[in-house]
Amino acid sequence: MIEIIDTARCTDCNICVSACPTNVFEATPGGPPRIARQHDCQTCFMCELYCPEDALYVAPIADRSANAVERDAATRALMGSYRSAIGWGRGRQSTASLDASFELLTRAH
Ligand code: SF4
Ligand code: SF4
Repeated sequence: MIEIIDTARCTDCNICVSACPTNVFEATPGGPPRIARQHDCQTCFMCELYCPEDALYVAPIADRSANAVERDAATRALMGSYRSAIGWGRGRQSTASLDASFELLTRAH
């Protein structure tokens, strides 16, 4: 579930507002968007993937809020971590070619 917008990193681009399929965010004139409907979040990670500033944290818990605390050092280290893991973003290499999960399908036949 979406947990945090890091307002220090956010550049108010509102890409996350457009990327979210369930309209969780609300644009705020002249400032970062706010998480207006957290419980509509489907934990799809689209917002985190498309945020160019790694300013979002989606916890991998779908059915409740993780109550992540923005100031907590461990949580801040996770900001944009899913995006980083798949290799999206400046200076990163896509990890798609390392995904061998298709092997499971070929072995199932
Ligand atoms: S994880 Fe998906 S559903 Fe949740 S806020 Fe981000 S884009 Fe919206
Ligand atoms: S996509 Fe990232 S930088 Fe852009 S408004 Fe959303 S949180 Fe801020």
